[in-house]
Amino acid sequence: MQNVVVVGASLAGFRAVEELRHQGYDGSITVIGAEAHLPYDRPPLSKQILAGTWESDRLPLTAVGKEVADLNVDWRLGVAASSLDLGARVVELADGTRVAYDGLVIATGASVRKLPGQPELEGLHTLRTLDDCIALRADLDATPQRVVVVGAGFIGAEVAATARQRGLDVTLLEALATPLQRALGDAIGTVCGDIHLEHGVDLRLSTGVEGFDDDGRGRLNGIRLSDGTSVAADVAVVGVGVAPNTGWLEGSGLTIDNGIVCDETCLAAPDVVAAGDIARWPNHRFDEVMRVEHWENAQEQGAHAARRLLGHLEPYEPVPWFWSDQYDRKIQLAGRSHADDEVQIVDGSIEERRFVALYGRAGRVVGVLGMNRPRPVMEYRQLIADGTSWEDALAR
Ligand SMILES: Cc1cc2nc3c(=O)[nH]c(=O)nc-3n(C[C@H](O)[C@H](O)[C@H](O)COP(=O)(O)OP(=O)(O)OC[C@H]3O[C@@H](n4cnc5c(N)ncnc54)[C@H](O)[C@@H]3O)c2cc1C
Repeated sequence: MQNVVVVGASLAGFRAVEELRHQGYDGSITVIGAEAHLPYDRPPLSKQILAGTWESDRLPLTAVGKEVADLNVDWRLGVAASSLDLGARVVELADGTRVAYDGLVIATGASVRKLPGQPELEGLHTLRTLDDCIALRADLDATPQRVVVVGAGFIGAEVAATARQRGLDVTLLEALATPLQRALGDAIGTVCGDIHLEHGVDLRLSTGVEGFDDDGRGRLNGIRLSDGTSVAADVAVVGVGVAPNTGWLEGSGLTIDNGIVCDETCLAAPDVVAAGDIARWPNHRFDEVMRVEHWENAQEQGAHAARRLLGHLEPYEPVPWFWSDQYDRKIQLAGRSHADDEVQIVDGSIEERRFVALYGRAGRVVGVLGMNRPRPVMEYRQLIADGTSWEDALAR
């Protein structure tokens, strides 16, 4: 292999590049990225950058023990890949350029979903990229500020917390009766919502959006809600999840089904691997074909996919792990929790907002959530990796 192309210049793609070089691959590497920026970190976009405590110069990804220039990459930034010809081994770009490969890493991640009929209005935002964040932050800097966040998932919850900590009036809308219900269940989802109430957020559950009103000059000034009421808004952020960026692969012959479907080693086709938010693969540790939208997964799977391209055949079997910072709470979640799992608090208490909750299914411990309890989360994560029974995990 002498000519690797990486599509997607973000975390998974960058870690793939780094690992290729780390493994001694000395052929050419071309990275194609739709954004104009060199790879950067997204988690601070809803935290420090949005809060205004960091500037964007802290975001670029760095390579361990190396300057980015030492990776010797041909960066093609600000241009998207538009199609893939698997037979000819060529990626075509939106500007008509054709880039040949003998090894391909696909790491095109995910884009935000919008609400049906969501209009383009000043003051109405989504948050995925640095450019999104800069635009949103500029709007939050202006006054007066009534902020509405649509969707109390992790990103929406972080945006709500950051805006509230900036002293703004925040309304947080959630269509379900409990925030994060599907992932965390009722009891833990309720605590996550209560934290916002305690910080003065106007949290409205079981409330959807009917439409957005503007001031006649193209600027948002209110949101109509499913309960027939309206809420005034200078700024709104729609955080209703993401969808994998697979559009450019239609007709390529790859299997696309809520992501690129790979085998257990991250291989999607001969000499083609996928990693990060876009990849779906059978994780045998959980008997599940999963797609994971977490920072650590993009990092680890990017490196794993690079090794796969070089001929390493190990299956990729992580215990996914995720964190979210909201106010002074650090939430960490490891494993695969579902709404109908058994849930037990095994450390601390919900009342003090400092606890560890275990999730059990079919006699096994499958998930752990910690609120301001990072160390036990990592210990229980190991028990999940070891396939520990529910009973043994509780008895620990
Ligand atoms: C605001 C925010 C906060 C987050 N906070 C956390 C957190 O606290 N904890 C956590 O675990 N995770 C967090 N995440 C999730 C984490 O950042 C993602 O899981 C991670 O960025 C995924 O990396 P990726 O490389 O797979 O994809 P992405 O980061 O989505 O990057 C994909 C790249 O590919 C580019 N691209 C797309 N299509 C094409 C194309 N056709 N051609 C060329 N390029 C293309 C995109 O422009 C993008 O630059 C957060 C995400 C966001 C947006």
